[in-house]
Amino acid sequence: MLKKLFTSFRSPLRRAPHPRSTPEVLSSRQHPINRNEISRHAISVVERLQRAGYQAYLVGGCVRDLLLDIEPKDFDVATSATPEQVRAEFRNARVIGRRFKLVHVHFGREIIEVATFRANHPQGEEEENSNLAARNESGRILRDNVYGTLEDDAQRRDFTINALYYDPTQEHILDYARGMHDVRNRLVRLIGDPEQRYLEDPVRMLRAVRFAAKLDFDIEKHSAEPIRRLAPMLRDIPSARLFDEVLKLFLSGYAEYTFDLLVEFDLFAQLFPASGEALKHNPEFTEKLIREALINTDDRIHDGKSVTPAFLFAALLWPALPTRVLQLQSRGMPPIPAMQEAAHELITEQCQRIAVPKRFTIPIREIWDMQERLPRRSGKRADLLLENPRFRAGYDFLLLRERAGEKTEDLGEWWTEYQHASDSLRRQMIRDLAGKPEAGSGNAPRKRRRSSGQRKRKAEGENGGSGE
Ligand code: ATP
Ligand code: MG
Repeated sequence: MLKKLFTSFRSPLRRAPHPRSTPEVLSSRQHPINRNEISRHAISVVERLQRAGYQAYLVGGCVRDLLLDIEPKDFDVATSATPEQVRAEFRNARVIGRRFKLVHVHFGREIIEVATFRANHPQGEEEENSNLAARNESGRILRDNVYGTLEDDAQRRDFTINALYYDPTQEHILDYARGMHDVRNRLVRLIGDPEQRYLEDPVRMLRAVRFAAKLDFDIEKHSAEPIRRLAPMLRDIPSARLFDEVLKLFLSGYAEYTFDLLVEFDLFAQLFPASGEALKHNPEFTEKLIREALINTDDRIHDGKSVTPAFLFAALLWPALPTRVLQLQSRGMPPIPAMQEAAHELITEQCQRIAVPKRFTIPIREIWDMQERLPRRSGKRADLLLENPRFRAGYDFLLLRERAGEKTEDLGEWWTEYQHASDSLRRQMIRDLAGKPEAGSGNAPRKRRRSSGQRKRKAEGENGGSGE
C-alpha cells in the first residue's frame, strides 16, 4: 500500500511548514484509501451533512492511519456546520465540551466525533472582547470555539499528518499542509511556528511523542528542538486533561517506546515528578521496573487483553516509595505506618499533577498493601489472601518487582506453586514455613536501615516475635 502511495504521489522536496490556501487535491487514483475501510457510520455522518448543504470531511488520525495501513482507532469528522446545526441533523447526537465544543453522534457503541471548522484565534483586543476564544499570559489557549473555514481549520490543527481531509463522496484527499510529504517521509511536524504552537497548547508536546511512538516516525528537528525547553509548561495544564493524555500515552500499545521518548525529551519527570527523581537516584531498578510493566502492558494490549490503569500507576510510582519510607523511618516511624504514610503522600502529590480518579487510586493502594501481606502466609492467611479480589494484581506485581531485581527470597515462586498445589500440599507448604523468617516482607531499603528508635527497642528486647 505504501508503495502505491510513494509512486503515485510525487511532489517537490522542499520544506514548507506553513499551510497553503489552495490544497493539493489527490484523486482516488493518487492515494491508497479505500472507502470500504471506513466505518459506515462515519461515512453516513459525512454524507448526511453534505446532503444538508454543509461541507464535511473525515479528518485527523483516521486519514493518517489509513494512509499508513493502520486500522484507525476512531473516525473524526470536520464540518462547516455549527455544533447546534450538527445536533439538529441527528437524533442520536450530543454536544459536549466547553473549552472545545464538539458533537458526539452515537451509533450503538461507536461514537463519531464531529467538530466544526475552527480558525486560529483573533489577536489582541479582538480576542479580549471575545467570549469564544481565550488565552492566558503565556499564550496558552483556554477556549477554542472560534469557527472558520476549511482552510482556517487546516491551519489550526497540530501536525501536518493530522491535517489531511478525506471526502468519501468524491474519494479525494485535500492536503493543505504538505501532510502527504511528511507521511511519506515518516515525520511528525508541527504546522506553523513550533514554539508558538507548543505555547498555545503544551499538550502538543505529548502528542508529538505519542504519534512518533505509535507510527514509528521521527519528530522533525524544528518541532523537536523546543520540547525540552518548554516541557515545564505542562505544569499549567489541568490535571484532569493530563490524566486523559497519560492514559493515551501508556494504553495505546506502544508504551515502552513512548516512555523512552518521554524521558529523552524531559517530559516524563513533568508528568511523574517523584518517579523522575527515582530515575535519577536509582536508575537501574526504576527503569527496569517501569520498562517491565510497560512491556507487559503493550503485550496485553496487542493480545486483546484488558489492562488496568491502577496496575500501571502502581508500577510507575513504586520506585519512588523507598526513599520516602526511609525518610519517615529515620524520623522514628515504624515500618508499616511509614509505608502507609509514604504511599498516601506519594499518591496525593501525584494527583496534583495528574488527576488519577479514586476508582484507580484505591486499587493502587491495595496492590501496594498486598506487597506487605504476601510474605505473611502462616495459619489460614495464605488461603484468605488467595480469596482476596486483589490477590491476582498483588501477585502479578510481586513478580514484576522480582523481575526488576528486588530480592524477595523466591516469594513469587512460592505463591505460583501454592496456587496450583493440592490441599494436602498446601498444608505441607504452610507447615514448612514454620520457624522460617517471613520472606521478602517489605521493601529492600527497610531491611538495610532501621531508625535509631527501632534499633534501641530491638536491643532492649521489646520487639521480639514475628515483628508484625
Ligand atoms: P488518535 O485518535 O489515533 O489518537 P488523532 O490524530 O485522531 O489520533 P485526536 O485526539 O482524536 O487525535 O484528534 C483528532 C484531530 O484533531 C487530530 O488529528 C488533530 O488534527 C486535531 N487535534 C487534536 N488535538 C489537537 C491539539 N491539541 N491541537 C491542535 N489540533 C488538535
Ligand atoms: Mg482520533
